[in-house]
Amino acid sequence: MPQSQPQPLPSADEPDCIFCKIIRKEIPSAAVLETDHALVFLDINPVNPGHLLLVPKHHHRNLIELPDSVAAEVGSLLPRLCKAVQAATNAEGFNLVVNNGEVAGQTVFHGHWHIIPRFTNDPIKWPWPQGRYEAEELGRMRDSLQKELGVGG
Ligand code: 5GP
Ligand code: ZN
Repeated sequence: MPQSQPQPLPSADEPDCIFCKIIRKEIPSAAVLETDHALVFLDINPVNPGHLLLVPKHHHRNLIELPDSVAAEVGSLLPRLCKAVQAATNAEGFNLVVNNGEVAGQTVFHGHWHIIPRFTNDPIKWPWPQGRYEAEELGRMRDSLQKELGVGG
């Protein structure tokens, strides 16, 4: 068995990235939690008060480029953070949102999760419209996804 090597600590090393600047403390943020791999701070333009951003310290344009081990460490903070958001804001629920790619509304290209507290009659338009699959389409879609994942028959 090869010995596992110590991993270098993550670096927020993209000079012009706003979140890297926040992580490097070059610009201020209302940070609520910092770990070896993540910084959590309040969104400057909240959808609802208490809207948090969970930001990996690694600079990656989006979440699908995060190494699995980092995604696991950072993602493991989510239940605790969501619970704190609900408790601190007296929210009745929350949305956990990732905008991945410009088409999905991503504006800061350093991957991150939004935790958005929700209240009865708040101004957020949700849910989005949903469709249905035509006859064979559901199975074809499942097959394509399983092929990408390298699983299934
Ligand atoms: P995205 O649209 O990429 O999913 O989300 C980026 C989020 O970052 C937006 O909700 C925006 O309000 C927030 N944001 C952008 N610049 C700053 C900043 O300088 N400080 C903080 N705290 N949030 C920011
Ligand atoms: Zn960055």
